[in-house]
Amino acid sequence: MQDNADLLALVRTIPDFPKPGIQFRDITTLIHNGWGLRTAIDRMATASAPYQPTLVAGIEARGFIFGAGIAHQLGLGFVPVRKSKKLPGAVIGIDYELEYGVDRLEIHNDVLGPDDRVLIIDDLIATGGTATATVNLIRMAGAKVSAACFLVDLPDLGGTDRLRAQEVPVETLLVFE
Ligand code: 5GP
Repeated sequence: MQDNADLLALVRTIPDFPKPGIQFRDITTLIHNGWGLRTAIDRMATASAPYQPTLVAGIEARGFIFGAGIAHQLGLGFVPVRKSKKLPGAVIGIDYELEYGVDRLEIHNDVLGPDDRVLIIDDLIATGGTATATVNLIRMAGAKVSAACFLVDLPDLGGTDRLRAQEVPVETLLVFE
């Protein structure tokens, strides 16, 4: 496995954001660094290519930053997975549980079909709630999920286990225990 300590050092930890007790892993410091942004995208694309995706789905908002770069690298199209009421056309959506309350993700209803093998991209996986909702949305749209790739994994929160239990191959570059 590649040693990603060089990239890990570019992620900043902000205590008590967005609320007390949370250690927020801030990737803006990594993307501010030209080498960091390029290397993160290159390594995520290299890890994802063997799954032979036909499209990349990036999750709003930080998933767009990495997902668009990976789509460019792999020569694939990009599907934005957006929060509720942002997309202009007809959508399909899915509600999912947050710690407090419910959120909703949507995609345009004409962008996925049975021949698509979709690569899901986000900056970070924690509980896996957001990524699992995205898997369900892609499958509701009739497409397959080829794999999911995240820059950062917080394994103590169980998200990657949750995704693998849904038969989704998962790749991550950086781990914060
Ligand atoms: P999950 O649904 O896996 O619990 O949370 C992952 C989602 O929340 C991702 O979309 C991710 O961008 C965001 N998120 C949660 N915690 C953090 C964090 O510490 N740092 C960053 N950059 N994003 C986070």
